[in-house]
Amino acid sequence: MSIYISQNFKYIEFTCPCCGKDRPIDPKLIYLLQSLREKIDRPIYISKGGGIRCKKYNKQIGGYVDSPHLYGKATDIQVENMDIVSLAKQAKDIGFSRVGLYPFSHFIHIDVIRPYPSASWVRDVQGRYFYFKTLEDAIIFSEV
Ligand SMILES: [Zn+2]
Repeated sequence: MSIYISQNFKYIEFTCPCCGKDRPIDPKLIYLLQSLREKIDRPIYISKGGGIRCKKYNKQIGGYVDSPHLYGKATDIQVENMDIVSLAKQAKDIGFSRVGLYPFSHFIHIDVIRPYPSASWVRDVQGRYFYFKTLEDAIIFSEV
């Protein structure tokens, strides 16, 4: 079934890759994602495991134990030929509350949960996480 949940996104793009588990996706997430898609006017790809995850899969890939991916409140995205810093800035401008940078995997995490204590983070080449109060601080760190 290829049910569209917005103009450019299908529900199946968000289901768990290990088991196909689905659950409600926060309408705000979809609204902002579609708005971002229209703003940049280019296809946005949901990374593998970048939509909804079951607990088992989330653990398997080393996701945060209480990850918003478990609750349909986060997605990981990439856009061909667009650097992740530009993509991250546009996502922030559109209204995503938190933006995580994965420069070595070429994707960003965007979500709609409370941006405290950190609104942004960077995962480095060794898989370590560094947390920041603002996206701007995370960008500076990622570019050093
Ligand atoms: Zn699963």
